[in-house]
Amino acid sequence: MTTSTKHDGGSAARAPHPVSGGPIVQLPTAFGEFVAQAWTDLVTGVEHLAVSSPVAHRPGRAPLVRLHSECLTGDVFGSYRCDCGEQLAYALELIAEEGGTLLYLRGQEGRGIGLANKIKAYALQEAGFDTVEANEQLGLPVDARCYKAAAQILAEMGLHEIRLLSNNPDKQNRLAQAGVKVVEMVPTEVPSREQNLRYLQTKKNRMDHRLTLGETEPAGSHAIATTFEHEQD
Ligand SMILES: [Zn+2]
Repeated sequence: MTTSTKHDGGSAARAPHPVSGGPIVQLPTAFGEFVAQAWTDLVTGVEHLAVSSPVAHRPGRAPLVRLHSECLTGDVFGSYRCDCGEQLAYALELIAEEGGTLLYLRGQEGRGIGLANKIKAYALQEAGFDTVEANEQLGLPVDARCYKAAAQILAEMGLHEIRLLSNNPDKQNRLAQAGVKVVEMVPTEVPSREQNLRYLQTKKNRMDHRLTLGETEPAGSHAIATTFEHEQD
């Protein structure tokens, strides 16, 4: 957000965003054994949590990283309006298995618009708008998330080159701007549900998310779904 960013583009964008890490503690969970470390964004005061597997990642292979944006309704209540809760569970299971880190980014509810606004957007969706149109109706950005603190946390954890567990190519671009190199995108698609199908179709069609949405695809798209399955191996 500094004015210098405008003058020298990329290099200024990689200026350190101040964050502060706390102690690393054990975090046994239903998904496996992890270690956790809280990080404070010293600009905004928002506190994030890095959850890492003690399993060492394969030598010569970039570590697996999931940047998970907080979604209270999906993550805590298991809401089927979105796929966040299932993505979180999938990511933790995969990271427990093959090593890596999940960075849980708080203050990013509803792609950065906040919980109350997200619920307002849900009301608009119930009136017929899609997830993008609903934000527009509220005069809010479609995606207000900032990844500068996330990139700095990853850098301070020594994670400069990562395999990013995400279907969102925009996340890859934003991380690159912040100085984290994504060497591979690892898809995280979980099965769609009747309740979140329209939301996922909007993410695919209007936000360029790499989703196959399996059975809703025309028959000819089977090859794409197969590719995703192979990439997950
Ligand atoms: Zn969600």
